[in-house]
Amino acid sequence: MSNGSDPAAVLTALDRAQDAFEMVGRGRTAFEDGISADEDWKTQLTKACRLLEVVDTLQSQDGYYTAVIEVCFGAIERSIEAYALAMTNDTLQDFRDHQFSYERAHQIGLFERETAEAMKDLYSENRTESYYGGGRPTQEQAEAMTNLANAVHQFAVNQIRKGSVCLCD
Ligand SMILES: [Zn+2]
Repeated sequence: MSNGSDPAAVLTALDRAQDAFEMVGRGRTAFEDGISADEDWKTQLTKACRLLEVVDTLQSQDGYYTAVIEVCFGAIERSIEAYALAMTNDTLQDFRDHQFSYERAHQIGLFERETAEAMKDLYSENRTESYYGGGRPTQEQAEAMTNLANAVHQFAVNQIRKGSVCLCD
């Protein structure tokens, strides 16, 4: 290891995080409420529901635009993945790359090409912080992304013809 000069606090915390993701030790595993462990599509779908709940919570506090935008993209991607996993032979391993979700959304017929590409472009623009305002998120962006994430989620839920596990009202 060449990390001898890195701070102990970081290394210790990193070790703990690695153990946590490998589910090593530290007593009873406490899973997040509401996330389905049933099938992969249900897990991804209910993650999206929970992310949208976080968006609501953040928006009610007003001002956390960066977090709202990030979480909205997460909710959109989890919703698309849920649809893909439920309605095609895709597996979770296919979705290693964020951009792939948006491409897949068109390939599997969830959205028209233009719509899926516009979403992918939004994602890339947010990633590269190339939009106007020098990459500083705005209230309008946060509100627009909240609407988009909810609309995509609702549509994906409605298109999954396997019954609903959606936690949203
Ligand atoms: Zn939901």
